[in-house]
Amino acid sequence: MDLCYEKKPGWDKLDKQACMEYAEGYKAFLDTGKTERDAVEAIVARAEAKGYRPFTRGMNVQPGDKFYQVNRHKGVILAHIGHASLADGVRLTAAHLDAPRIDIRTVPLYEQDGMAYFKTHYYGGIKKYHWLAIPLELRGVVCVCKDGKVTRVPVHVGDKPGDPKFVITDLLPHLASEQMGKKATEVIKAENMNVLLGSIPSEHAEKDDKDKIKRAILEYLNDAYGMSEVDFLSAELSCVPAFPACDIGFDRSFVGAYGHDDRVCSYPAATALIDDDETPAHTAVCLLVDKEEIGSDGVTGMQSRHFDTFLGDLCRAQDVLLDACLEQSVCLSADVCNAYDPNFPDVSEGRNDARVNCGLAIIKYTGARGKSGTSDASAELMARIRCILDGAGITWQTGQLGRVDQGGGGTVAMYLANRNIDTVDAGVPVLSMHAPFETISKHDLYMAYLGFGAFYRD
Ligand code: MN
Ligand code: MN
Repeated sequence: MDLCYEKKPGWDKLDKQACMEYAEGYKAFLDTGKTERDAVEAIVARAEAKGYRPFTRGMNVQPGDKFYQVNRHKGVILAHIGHASLADGVRLTAAHLDAPRIDIRTVPLYEQDGMAYFKTHYYGGIKKYHWLAIPLELRGVVCVCKDGKVTRVPVHVGDKPGDPKFVITDLLPHLASEQMGKKATEVIKAENMNVLLGSIPSEHAEKDDKDKIKRAILEYLNDAYGMSEVDFLSAELSCVPAFPACDIGFDRSFVGAYGHDDRVCSYPAATALIDDDETPAHTAVCLLVDKEEIGSDGVTGMQSRHFDTFLGDLCRAQDVLLDACLEQSVCLSADVCNAYDPNFPDVSEGRNDARVNCGLAIIKYTGARGKSGTSDASAELMARIRCILDGAGITWQTGQLGRVDQGGGGTVAMYLANRNIDTVDAGVPVLSMHAPFETISKHDLYMAYLGFGAFYRD
């Protein structure tokens, strides 16, 4: 009997080829799903191909049924109805699809000193200096109002071969002696994070017209998207890193990409459900939400009633009270955690922080300043999850969010636990989390996929 607990890398125990192949699918998803809207579309397409149908209130709900429901283009719930009644609860995974990025403001376009720019407002917790001097692409929608009708126009610039890209410029080191002496939080002010858009004046402008470059940009946007300047008000445009996901390392054991947090959990949570054709014992649900990076508020965030309404509608079809279903349910709050980084050992505590290649990290609590802002899963629940994972031969490990009082943070776990659902955080450790280019281990990604699958089948 092994009396000691030790985190151990699991490469020697897994099907390496299957793991590498799964990572290829994940990389393709990362490149298409860089915003929550794009991620929802990709997941819905995959679910529909495996027989998932849109769920609406009043539909029959039978074992084996596969449903999905999209929440305002930015979130999606998948449900595979199990043999047991919904009164016995659901096996729920909850992950988020939004990621830190640079949002475009509502009156963004201006011209200054011979160049045109967008004003921006960063989204989520970033190190602002990370976003300077890297290629950016533009993604989102413009909703144009014409003759009393709303048309939604998708915008994608910079993701196709040959597309132009965008950039927020940085100062050359030769003139940066003052900048280099500043605190990292002050290296670039948010108001100076303006995105460079162009510099050729319009040919249609009158001689005395001011802002001829801005005019040229508006002409381009009108041509391409049928929009004028006021339509930025009803648009959601974001700049995200323009580089694709790629393998990292001679042995290709890592994936480097934008937005692993939290696609490295939402992708395995969704695909583990979608890929399994067998009707589960309990209804299996994958909940993918938006707005986690800014506090989970709003109609598309985890605090929205959308999830309760959806599950309530499912329950009503089986004559089950929503509250009865919730109290029997179990949830893996599928979000990333920090991976111990040997380059920055001082912020971690080696025994408890998760390590790359040691598998799916189960995190009893997150929070900060004495466990504030966490639901702190019970010992009973931790044991139950351990049993499921061990039973399925999953390599898993414990995790925590760095040294105590080093900082901290939270996940959506508490919002699910507050609904009377037994909830624990389970996710993939990430290096350089919240940087424009994050790194994860393919082994851990694959363990998340297998682990979530075992959980759904429990
Ligand atoms: Mn996250
Ligand atoms: Mn995050």
